Amino acid sequence: MFTATLRCGTVLSYEARTFRPEPGDLVPCRHHGYCIVQLTGGPASGGALSTRARPRAQSELREWIRGRSETTVHALRRHGFTLRMVAAAERDGLVDVDLRMGRVAIRPVVGAEPTVTDREARS
Ligand SMILES: [Zn+2]
Repeated sequence: MFTATLRCGTVLSYEARTFRPEPGDLVPCRHHGYCIVQLTGGPASGGALSTRARPRAQSELREWIRGRSETTVHALRRHGFTLRMVAAAERDGLVDVDLRMGRVAIRPVVGAEPTVTDREARS
C-alpha cells in the first residue's frame, strides 16, 4: 500500500505507486476540498527510506520569493517547487506567471499588514 500524507494530516492510500501523487501535488482531500501532499510513503524500493526530495510547503514558496522581483519556472522547479505550487501562488496573487516564457514575476507586497495579537484581550 502506498500512502500520501497531506498537510492537514489526512493520510490517503493507493494500491499502486503510479496512482500516488508526489509531495507538493494538490489532491482532493475529504476534509478540505484540496490539500497539498506533504509526505509520501509505501514499500521502499531499495530497502532504505527514500526521501529524495524534501517536500516543499506553500509557505516556503512565499519565503523563497520574498525579496526577489523576478525568477523563472525552471529556477523554482530546481528548488523543489512544483508547477502546481507556482500556479497556486499565482491564484493567491503573489506572482504573475508567463508559462510560455517560463518567467515568474513576483508582485511587490502591498503594505505589510500589522500582526494583530490577542494582547489587548488579555490586559
Ligand atoms: Zn485536508
